Amino acid sequence: MIKSQPPSEIDVLIIGTGLSGISMAGHLGMMCPEIDYMVLERRDRIGGTWDQFRYPGVRSDSDMHTLGFDFEPWKHEDAIADGHAILDYLNRIVEERRISENMHFGFEVVSADWDSSRARWIVTARGKDGTSAIIAARLLYFASGYYDDDNPHDADLPGLGRFGGQTVDPQFWPEDLDYQGKDVVVIGSGATAVTIVSAMADTASSVTMLQRTPSWMAPGPRCDTWGKRFERWFPEKPAYWLTRQKNIALRSYFFGLSRRKPRVLAEKLRGLQRGALRKSYEPRHFEPPYNPWQQRLCLMPDGNLFTAMRRGHAHIVTDRIAGFDDGGVKLQSGDYTSGYLERAKHLMPKVAAERPWTLRHNYREDKRDFRQRPVADGVLRFVHASAQTDISCEQDAAGNTQAIAAE
Ligand SMILES: Cc1cc2nc3c(=O)[nH]c(=O)nc-3n(C[C@H](O)[C@H](O)[C@H](O)COP(=O)(O)OP(=O)(O)OC[C@H]3O[C@@H](n4cnc5c(N)ncnc54)[C@H](O)[C@@H]3O)c2cc1C
Repeated sequence: MIKSQPPSEIDVLIIGTGLSGISMAGHLGMMCPEIDYMVLERRDRIGGTWDQFRYPGVRSDSDMHTLGFDFEPWKHEDAIADGHAILDYLNRIVEERRISENMHFGFEVVSADWDSSRARWIVTARGKDGTSAIIAARLLYFASGYYDDDNPHDADLPGLGRFGGQTVDPQFWPEDLDYQGKDVVVIGSGATAVTIVSAMADTASSVTMLQRTPSWMAPGPRCDTWGKRFERWFPEKPAYWLTRQKNIALRSYFFGLSRRKPRVLAEKLRGLQRGALRKSYEPRHFEPPYNPWQQRLCLMPDGNLFTAMRRGHAHIVTDRIAGFDDGGVKLQSGDYTSGYLERAKHLMPKVAAERPWTLRHNYREDKRDFRQRPVADGVLRFVHASAQTDISCEQDAAGNTQAIAAE
């Protein structure tokens, strides 16, 4: 992708060319074609997560009919899709919709200050070559994701330096890593670990998933059978819409069930695990110390981890790491603490207990709230922008849109 100097004034400035940034750009193009926007990206390519993560088997956890955009049907065979298929989807969209013309690569946004006198965001972006750009924007949209791209979380494993083998972080997977015939330990129990273990199992000599705390896991189909039927019966867009609605309804149902009847859902998951693993099922590797969906539920497409375990190609060990030596990992018996959400809890934005500043975790209801519900909370106040601006309307705290003075 070409790096070009961004303009100094713009209506909307979007930060990031991942799913969120492309979604915003796509919607602006469709719904507000008269508005000028630009997208700034610190990397050299679009895709964010889906360009950066290159470990074996990298894939979505959600079905792409809901993770994909409502305005662009997902056409690939798999609903749970590989990273490169998601990247193809995004690349096609930015080219077909000419979003790429508004993208500027190699610029990292380093500051954003609100200038009340101009009613503009003054954004500073640093170019990779040391240049900088200052841009005034009416609206600033953060689609910058939640990773620290350069410094991923350091698990601070005790004595790792003594390990004589190779260590790899999934965020920086070496393209030419040869693991054929090697004994591999994957530390972790989340979606990344489950994916990597399943993908490496047939090539490595042995793959062991070493987890401190089990996660709830569920097998699910990689390909959406009903979605494929809809594609045969209906034109492309209605078929996509139907599949999307079906999947939103199913997800909402299971998430609701996890809140209303966690034991019922837990028993259902245990049944699926026992059925898939048969003799290899050991409850201590699959029983988290929390209810399903209190932390992320880990989906495995077509039960691939269970298949690898049944064949003896993959193993799970539940324990704590005591240290390392030249040849491997030393274990101690485990206690339970949980994963990345717990670890970063203090850094996460907080929600309030009541609306409008909370989410119900129900896609349809939250979407309706976002779009229609006023944000009147008795505290937040909306004021008219400076009379020197050309902003033509705004919402008051009660949700009424009102025309205001323009230049
Ligand atoms: C392997 C994997 C699988 C996942 N599967 C799912 C799933 O199935 N469902 C789901 O909901 N989520 C999933 N996620 C989470 C996933 O990251 C998000 O769903 C989604 O892709 C995030 O998109 P985004 O555009 O918000 O952020 P990102 O993809 O992180 O993109 C942010 C972009 O902003 C750029 N950027 C950041 N800061 C700056 C700056 N200061 N200046 C300029 N540019 C900047 C970054 O370089 C990046 O390109 C998965 C994550 C991983 C790693």
